[in-house]
Amino acid sequence: MLIGVPAETVPGETRVAVTPETAKKLVAQGHTVRVQSGAGITAAITDAALQAAGAEITDAAGAFACELVLKVRSPSDGEAALMKPGTAVVGMLNPFDAEGLQRLAAAGLTSFALEAAPRTTRAQSMDVLSSQANIAGYKAVMIAADKYQRFFPMLMTAAGTVKAARVVILGVGVAGLQAIATAKRLGAVIEASDVRPSVKEQVESLGAKFIDVPYETQEEKEAAEGVGGYARPMPQSWMDRQKVEVAKRVAAADIVVTTALIPGRAAPVLVTEEMVQAMKPGSVIVDMAAPQGGNCPLTEAGRTVIKHGVTLVGETNLPALVAADASSLYARNVLDFLKLVLPKEGGFKIDLEDDIVAACRMTQDGQVTKK
Ligand code: NAD
Repeated sequence: MLIGVPAETVPGETRVAVTPETAKKLVAQGHTVRVQSGAGITAAITDAALQAAGAEITDAAGAFACELVLKVRSPSDGEAALMKPGTAVVGMLNPFDAEGLQRLAAAGLTSFALEAAPRTTRAQSMDVLSSQANIAGYKAVMIAADKYQRFFPMLMTAAGTVKAARVVILGVGVAGLQAIATAKRLGAVIEASDVRPSVKEQVESLGAKFIDVPYETQEEKEAAEGVGGYARPMPQSWMDRQKVEVAKRVAAADIVVTTALIPGRAAPVLVTEEMVQAMKPGSVIVDMAAPQGGNCPLTEAGRTVIKHGVTLVGETNLPALVAADASSLYARNVLDFLKLVLPKEGGFKIDLEDDIVAACRMTQDGQVTKK
């Protein structure tokens, strides 16, 4: 199979879909790997390292003129036009972007969005949402520590004692758990909230305190348990009680990291303007939900702003700020997915009996085939 890897063109996208490690494995399986010159440089991968792994270096047109194209982000119109109808594309294609999928279908591309893989044990090694959210959670805390003008750990010095930073994490999925673990390593005192009942134990096992908001009705309990491990929008009654508890913690916090998301919907508002006004000057909010509208209405996507004396970080692509490791984990996710569609006997196989392949397939034969 002729496999192409173009450079990413979305502004700020520094990741790449192949590394020397994965290129070497694909070449060992008998494939030809063509990478656009410079595609890896923002992720600390040189053309020479890729060549040493057996990849060929080409230009953009050469990388797109392949049977299978590996991407990080969905191809633009111009990029789609560089691919022949029937080309297979694997990437983070945003399954909720109906227009984007229509564009891929119109270009005749057979596309697979890895974000759509089920959150099952078999799919874990190709779970791009987890690999990238883990990195994002870490970087969110690193940015918070950078913006915050005080220490994270408690320090006893000859010049006096410095108090530990109080960190509140709202939304404890993969990113939130990593944010807790990272803040803990830095010595902060942490409290965290999530709607899902299974999270409490995980939060406590990381040495943080869970902000308990007990369910009062069957409807609240069922919404919290969600579907397929994902949260559903919570009834207003529960959101109101959560708000009271969160407001108290946010007022006392130095750092707030928000990660609360509901797939395919706008992010829930968890930190209101009033809560921001009640925060101490110099506090920092990193709103990881910024691309989905933010968990705080004061967040500005893609910008860092100061409002009511609080720094609000609305970075929209945190994994791209840790480009080397983000690419390395992402490229391994891609390689594992390819095992399902590149059989040993050769060719490209779309086995719709395979739940992962069926869930990831977005377009084929000019149609949007998303399940
Ligand atoms: P996500 O990024 O979709 O959401 C982040 C978090 O926000 C979730 O924990 C969600 O419950 C929470 N949230 C939503 N509304 C909220 C509110 N109003 N207040 C507070 N928190 C709120 O989640 P994710 O990190 O992708 O994880 C989703 C689920 O998938 C989790 O249960 C996770 O453990 C599970 N998972 C399973 C596997 C696997 O088994 N292979 C792999 C990864 C994740």
